[in-house]
Amino acid sequence: MKTIGVLAFQGGVIEHVKKIEELGAKPQLVKKEEDLKGLDGLILPGGESTTIGKFLIETGLKDHILKLIYEGMPVWGTCAGAILLSKNIKNQGSGVLPLLSIVIERNAYGSQLDSFKKEVFVPKFNIGTECVFIRAPRIVEVAEDVEVLAELETPIAVLQKNILATTFHPELTSQNYWHSFFVENVVK
Ligand code: GLN
Repeated sequence: MKTIGVLAFQGGVIEHVKKIEELGAKPQLVKKEEDLKGLDGLILPGGESTTIGKFLIETGLKDHILKLIYEGMPVWGTCAGAILLSKNIKNQGSGVLPLLSIVIERNAYGSQLDSFKKEVFVPKFNIGTECVFIRAPRIVEVAEDVEVLAELETPIAVLQKNILATTFHPELTSQNYWHSFFVENVVK
């Protein structure tokens, strides 16, 4: 059985845990170094990227996670998680785990009140998936080796080797397409 970690400092943790269970994999909450042992993949949830980033630095988890991703561990950042993985955050330097070759702009759709839900067709799945955007960031540039999996004017889901990032929250819908893609196709 695959074990999928969920970084559990803050944000949409439980919702990801439920999806992982639904897919028959084992969730593992990650708060300290020992929790990283034996993981087949790791999810960085949505929440507040500055807060989660601070926890990553203060606990020293940052360097351990960076090393694992660098060595090939599959990782998926949703919303704030995608910001943490970005090499370039527009006007704000880089994410705390800067391994994904994109430029991302925080809170690009406006305030919490401008949050929205939209069905977006995903060519790889050949189906429309429900996407929930909450104070979402916008991916404004991607490097050549970054595969764009879904777009809503700009890329909203990208894959670069073992790194998946979505600017929306699939864990807040009743669908399992994105979790299943991560657990079955990114985690091998
Ligand atoms: N606005 C948050 C940030 O910039 C991300 C929001 C989310 O994860 N839903 O960190």
